Amino acid sequence: MSPSPSSSAAKDAPPPLPEPLRVAVADSHTHLDMQAGSVEEGLAKAASVGVTTVVQVGCDVKGSRWAAETAAAHPNVHAAVALHPNEAPRIVLGDPDGWSRQGARAGGGEGALDDALAEIEALAALGHVKAVGETGLDYFRTGPEGMAAQERSFRAHIEIAKRQGKALVIHDRDAHADVLRVLREEGAPERTVFHCYSGDAEMARECAAAGYYMSFAGTVTFKNAAPLREALAVAPLELVLVETDAPYLTPAPYRGRPNAPYLIPLTVRAMAAVRGIDEDAMATALAANTARAFDY
Ligand SMILES: [Zn+2]
Ligand SMILES: [Zn+2]
Repeated sequence: MSPSPSSSAAKDAPPPLPEPLRVAVADSHTHLDMQAGSVEEGLAKAASVGVTTVVQVGCDVKGSRWAAETAAAHPNVHAAVALHPNEAPRIVLGDPDGWSRQGARAGGGEGALDDALAEIEALAALGHVKAVGETGLDYFRTGPEGMAAQERSFRAHIEIAKRQGKALVIHDRDAHADVLRVLREEGAPERTVFHCYSGDAEMARECAAAGYYMSFAGTVTFKNAAPLREALAVAPLELVLVETDAPYLTPAPYRGRPNAPYLIPLTVRAMAAVRGIDEDAMATALAANTARAFDY
Protein backbone atom coordinates (compact mmCIF):
# COMPACT_ATOMS: atom_id res chain seq x y z
CA MET A 1 0.00 0.00 0.00
CA SER A 2 1.31 3.44 -0.83
CA PRO A 3 1.24 6.13 1.86
CA SER A 4 -1.85 8.32 1.87
CA PRO A 5 -1.39 11.94 0.73
CA SER A 6 -2.14 13.21 4.22
CA SER A 7 0.66 11.17 5.84
CA SER A 8 3.22 12.30 3.27
CA ALA A 9 2.10 15.92 3.74
CA ALA A 10 2.59 15.54 7.50
CA LYS A 11 6.08 14.20 6.87
CA ASP A 12 7.10 17.40 5.07
CA ALA A 13 5.37 19.72 7.51
CA PRO A 14 7.53 21.81 9.82
CA PRO A 15 7.43 20.43 13.38
CA PRO A 16 5.55 22.57 15.95
CA LEU A 17 7.29 25.21 18.09
CA PRO A 18 8.83 23.62 21.19
CA GLU A 19 8.42 25.15 24.62
CA PRO A 20 10.76 28.19 24.79
CA LEU A 21 14.10 28.04 26.60
CA ARG A 22 14.36 30.33 29.62
CA VAL A 23 18.03 31.01 28.89
CA ALA A 24 18.84 32.04 25.32
CA VAL A 25 21.31 29.97 23.28
CA ALA A 26 22.95 30.03 19.84
CA ASP A 27 22.58 27.56 17.01
CA SER A 28 26.30 27.09 16.33
CA HIS A 29 25.86 25.71 12.79
CA THR A 30 23.00 26.23 10.38
CA HIS A 31 22.29 26.68 6.67
CA LEU A 32 19.51 29.28 6.44
CA ASP A 33 19.95 29.41 2.65
CA MET A 34 18.75 25.80 2.39
CA GLN A 35 15.65 26.31 4.57
CA ALA A 36 12.10 27.29 3.60
CA GLY A 37 10.91 30.85 4.28
CA SER A 38 12.83 34.11 4.58
CA VAL A 39 15.84 34.67 6.82
CA GLU A 40 13.80 37.13 8.88
CA GLU A 41 11.03 34.58 9.44
CA GLY A 42 13.52 31.88 10.42
CA LEU A 43 15.33 34.17 12.87
CA ALA A 44 12.07 35.45 14.41
CA LYS A 45 10.75 31.92 14.89
CA ALA A 46 14.03 30.85 16.50
CA ALA A 47 14.14 33.92 18.77
CA SER A 48 10.57 33.21 19.91
CA VAL A 49 11.82 30.03 21.63
CA GLY A 50 15.10 31.46 22.94
CA VAL A 51 17.44 30.73 20.02
CA THR A 52 18.63 34.30 19.57
CA THR A 53 21.92 33.81 17.71
CA VAL A 54 22.94 31.64 14.74
CA VAL A 55 26.16 30.83 12.93
CA GLN A 56 25.40 30.72 9.19
CA VAL A 57 27.75 28.37 7.35
CA GLY A 58 28.74 28.66 3.69
CA CYS A 59 29.70 25.55 1.71
CA ASP A 60 31.05 27.07 -1.50
CA VAL A 61 32.16 30.51 -2.72
CA LYS A 62 28.63 31.63 -3.53
CA GLY A 63 27.19 30.35 -0.25
CA SER A 64 30.07 31.88 1.70
CA ARG A 65 29.43 35.29 0.11
CA TRP A 66 25.78 34.93 1.05
CA ALA A 67 26.72 33.99 4.63
CA ALA A 68 28.95 37.07 4.94
CA GLU A 69 26.23 39.36 3.51
CA THR A 70 23.59 37.87 5.78
CA ALA A 71 25.81 38.34 8.84
CA ALA A 72 26.48 41.94 7.81
CA ALA A 73 22.72 42.59 7.63
CA HIS A 74 21.74 40.86 10.93
CA PRO A 75 23.57 41.54 14.21
CA ASN A 76 22.69 38.10 15.63
CA VAL A 77 23.91 36.17 12.59
CA HIS A 78 27.60 35.29 12.43
CA ALA A 79 29.19 33.84 9.33
CA ALA A 80 31.49 30.91 8.64
CA VAL A 81 33.01 30.66 5.15
CA ALA A 82 34.61 27.74 3.33
CA LEU A 83 34.61 25.22 0.55
CA HIS A 84 32.89 22.13 1.97
CA PRO A 85 35.03 18.95 1.95
CA ASN A 86 32.78 17.60 -0.80
CA GLU A 87 33.01 20.85 -2.78
CA ALA A 88 36.82 20.99 -3.07
CA PRO A 89 37.08 17.80 -5.19
CA ARG A 90 34.24 19.05 -7.41
CA ILE A 91 36.19 22.22 -8.16
CA VAL A 92 39.33 20.27 -9.04
CA LEU A 93 37.75 17.29 -10.83
CA GLY A 94 34.49 18.84 -12.04
CA ASP A 95 30.99 17.59 -11.27
CA PRO A 96 27.79 18.73 -12.99
CA ASP A 97 25.81 17.99 -9.84
CA GLY A 98 27.86 20.35 -7.71
CA TRP A 99 25.66 22.21 -5.23
CA SER A 100 26.81 25.60 -6.47
CA ARG A 101 24.19 25.13 -9.19
CA GLN A 102 26.55 26.95 -11.51
CA GLY A 103 25.79 24.39 -14.18
CA ALA A 104 27.98 21.69 -15.59
CA ARG A 105 31.61 22.65 -15.49
CA ALA A 106 34.77 20.94 -16.51
CA GLY A 107 37.26 20.14 -13.80
CA GLY A 108 39.18 23.31 -13.05
CA GLY A 109 42.27 21.63 -11.66
CA GLU A 110 44.30 22.86 -8.73
CA GLY A 111 44.43 26.40 -10.09
CA ALA A 112 40.65 26.65 -9.78
CA LEU A 113 40.88 25.43 -6.18
CA ASP A 114 43.51 28.09 -5.43
CA ASP A 115 41.29 30.79 -6.95
CA ALA A 116 38.33 29.66 -4.83
CA LEU A 117 40.51 29.54 -1.69
CA ALA A 118 41.67 33.11 -2.35
CA GLU A 119 38.02 34.21 -2.43
CA ILE A 120 37.35 32.37 0.84
CA GLU A 121 40.33 34.07 2.49
CA ALA A 122 39.11 37.52 1.38
CA LEU A 123 35.73 36.76 2.99
CA ALA A 124 37.38 35.31 6.12
CA ALA A 125 39.11 38.64 6.69
CA LEU A 126 35.75 40.45 7.15
CA GLY A 127 34.83 41.45 10.71
CA HIS A 128 31.44 39.75 10.79
CA VAL A 129 32.91 36.47 9.51
CA LYS A 130 33.81 34.62 12.68
CA ALA A 131 34.96 31.25 11.36
CA VAL A 132 36.53 29.33 8.52
CA GLY A 133 34.50 26.21 7.79
CA GLU A 134 32.95 23.90 7.28
CA THR A 135 36.10 22.17 6.15
CA GLY A 136 37.63 18.81 6.95
CA LEU A 137 37.30 15.34 5.49
CA ASP A 138 34.27 13.38 4.28
CA TYR A 139 34.97 9.80 3.27
CA PHE A 140 31.25 9.03 3.05
CA ARG A 141 30.48 11.20 0.01
CA THR A 142 33.92 11.67 -1.53
CA GLY A 143 35.59 8.63 -3.04
CA PRO A 144 39.33 7.87 -3.34
CA GLU A 145 39.67 10.01 -6.50
CA GLY A 146 38.74 13.15 -4.55
CA MET A 147 40.69 12.59 -1.35
CA ALA A 148 43.89 14.41 -2.36
CA ALA A 149 41.96 17.57 -3.30
CA GLN A 150 39.94 17.29 -0.12
CA GLU A 151 42.96 17.07 2.13
CA ARG A 152 44.77 19.88 0.32
CA SER A 153 41.70 22.09 0.75
CA PHE A 154 41.42 21.16 4.45
CA ARG A 155 45.07 22.11 5.07
CA ALA A 156 44.60 25.41 3.23
CA HIS A 157 41.52 26.26 5.34
CA ILE A 158 43.48 25.60 8.54
CA GLU A 159 46.12 28.06 7.36
CA ILE A 160 43.49 30.66 6.48
CA ALA A 161 41.86 30.35 9.92
CA LYS A 162 45.22 30.85 11.61
CA ARG A 163 46.27 33.77 9.40
CA GLN A 164 42.94 35.53 9.91
CA GLY A 165 42.62 34.65 13.61
CA LYS A 166 39.24 32.98 13.13
CA ALA A 167 37.70 29.81 14.55
CA LEU A 168 37.97 26.63 12.48
CA VAL A 169 34.77 24.61 11.89
CA ILE A 170 35.42 20.96 11.13
CA HIS A 171 33.20 18.63 9.10
CA ASP A 172 34.31 15.07 9.87
CA ARG A 173 32.36 12.24 8.31
CA ASP A 174 33.80 8.75 8.66
CA ALA A 175 37.27 10.30 8.84
CA HIS A 176 38.03 10.78 12.56
CA ALA A 177 41.63 9.54 12.59
CA ASP A 178 42.70 11.47 9.50
CA VAL A 179 41.02 14.71 10.64
CA LEU A 180 42.83 14.51 13.98
CA ARG A 181 46.11 13.69 12.19
CA VAL A 182 45.88 16.64 9.79
CA LEU A 183 45.06 18.99 12.69
CA ARG A 184 48.12 17.69 14.56
CA GLU A 185 50.36 18.02 11.50
CA GLU A 186 49.24 21.56 10.62
CA GLY A 187 48.76 22.76 14.17
CA ALA A 188 45.13 23.60 14.95
CA PRO A 189 43.97 27.22 15.30
CA GLU A 190 43.36 28.47 18.83
CA ARG A 191 39.61 27.79 18.49
CA THR A 192 38.53 24.62 16.66
CA VAL A 193 34.96 23.30 16.56
CA PHE A 194 33.93 19.78 15.51
CA HIS A 195 30.53 20.44 13.97
CA CYS A 196 27.94 17.65 14.21
CA TYR A 197 30.33 15.81 16.49
CA SER A 198 30.13 12.12 15.62
CA GLY A 199 32.95 10.49 17.57
CA ASP A 200 32.74 8.22 20.59
CA ALA A 201 33.80 8.80 24.19
CA GLU A 202 37.43 7.94 23.48
CA MET A 203 37.63 10.52 20.71
CA ALA A 204 35.89 13.06 22.97
CA ARG A 205 38.72 12.62 25.48
CA GLU A 206 41.22 13.22 22.69
CA CYS A 207 39.37 16.35 21.53
CA ALA A 208 39.16 17.58 25.12
CA ALA A 209 42.91 17.14 25.62
CA ALA A 210 43.50 19.26 22.50
CA GLY A 211 40.93 21.87 23.60
CA TYR A 212 38.61 21.29 20.64
CA TYR A 213 34.96 22.23 20.96
CA MET A 214 32.37 19.53 20.24
CA SER A 215 29.08 20.71 18.74
CA PHE A 216 26.16 18.29 19.16
CA ALA A 217 23.35 18.13 16.61
CA GLY A 218 19.93 16.45 16.60
CA THR A 219 21.73 13.12 16.13
CA VAL A 220 22.33 13.08 19.91
CA THR A 221 18.55 12.52 20.34
CA PHE A 222 18.44 9.51 18.01
CA LYS A 223 17.63 6.13 19.55
CA ASN A 224 20.67 4.42 18.03
CA ALA A 225 23.13 7.12 19.17
CA ALA A 226 24.29 5.70 22.50
CA PRO A 227 28.03 6.19 21.68
CA LEU A 228 27.34 9.86 20.93
CA ARG A 229 25.60 10.30 24.28
CA GLU A 230 28.56 8.59 25.98
CA ALA A 231 30.83 11.14 24.26
CA LEU A 232 28.64 14.01 25.48
CA ALA A 233 28.71 12.55 29.00
CA VAL A 234 32.54 12.68 29.18
CA ALA A 235 33.18 15.93 27.25
CA PRO A 236 34.14 18.89 29.48
CA LEU A 237 31.01 21.06 29.76
CA GLU A 238 32.96 24.17 28.73
CA LEU A 239 33.77 22.59 25.33
CA VAL A 240 30.21 21.58 24.41
CA LEU A 241 28.10 23.43 21.80
CA VAL A 242 24.69 22.78 20.22
CA GLU A 243 23.64 23.10 16.58
CA THR A 244 20.94 22.11 14.10
CA ASP A 245 22.91 21.70 10.85
CA ALA A 246 19.43 22.53 9.50
CA PRO A 247 17.75 21.63 7.23
CA TYR A 248 19.33 18.26 8.09
CA LEU A 249 19.37 16.09 11.24
CA THR A 250 16.02 17.04 12.76
CA PRO A 251 15.91 15.97 16.42
CA ALA A 252 13.56 13.29 17.74
CA PRO A 253 10.60 12.93 17.68
CA TYR A 254 10.55 14.76 14.33
CA ARG A 255 13.35 12.89 12.57
CA GLY A 256 12.90 13.12 8.78
CA ARG A 257 10.93 16.38 8.87
CA PRO A 258 12.53 19.74 7.95
CA ASN A 259 14.90 21.10 10.57
CA ALA A 260 15.41 24.78 11.49
CA PRO A 261 17.06 26.73 14.32
CA TYR A 262 13.78 26.98 16.29
CA LEU A 263 14.08 23.25 17.09
CA ILE A 264 17.28 23.70 19.15
CA PRO A 265 15.37 23.49 22.48
CA LEU A 266 14.63 19.79 21.80
CA THR A 267 18.34 19.05 21.49
CA VAL A 268 19.28 21.22 24.48
CA ARG A 269 16.79 19.29 26.66
CA ALA A 270 18.15 15.94 25.50
CA MET A 271 21.69 17.14 26.22
CA ALA A 272 20.76 18.34 29.72
CA ALA A 273 19.28 14.90 30.44
CA VAL A 274 22.49 13.17 29.29
CA ARG A 275 24.58 15.43 31.54
CA GLY A 276 22.14 15.15 34.46
CA ILE A 277 21.91 18.93 34.82
CA ASP A 278 18.91 21.20 34.50
CA GLU A 279 17.98 22.82 31.25
CA ASP A 280 18.88 26.35 32.37
CA ALA A 281 22.39 25.30 33.46
CA MET A 282 22.88 23.52 30.14
CA ALA A 283 21.68 26.55 28.17
CA THR A 284 23.85 28.95 30.19
CA ALA A 285 26.95 26.88 29.42
CA LEU A 286 26.07 26.52 25.73
CA ALA A 287 25.54 30.27 25.31
CA ALA A 288 28.86 31.14 26.94
CA ASN A 289 30.75 28.41 25.08
CA THR A 290 29.47 29.45 21.64
CA ALA A 291 30.35 33.11 22.23
CA ARG A 292 33.86 32.04 23.34
CA ALA A 293 34.36 29.59 20.46
CA PHE A 294 33.41 32.12 17.80
CA ASP A 295 34.69 35.21 19.65
CA TYR A 296 31.56 37.35 19.24
ZN1 LIG B 1 28.95 19.22 7.81
ZN1 LIG C 1 26.74 21.97 7.74
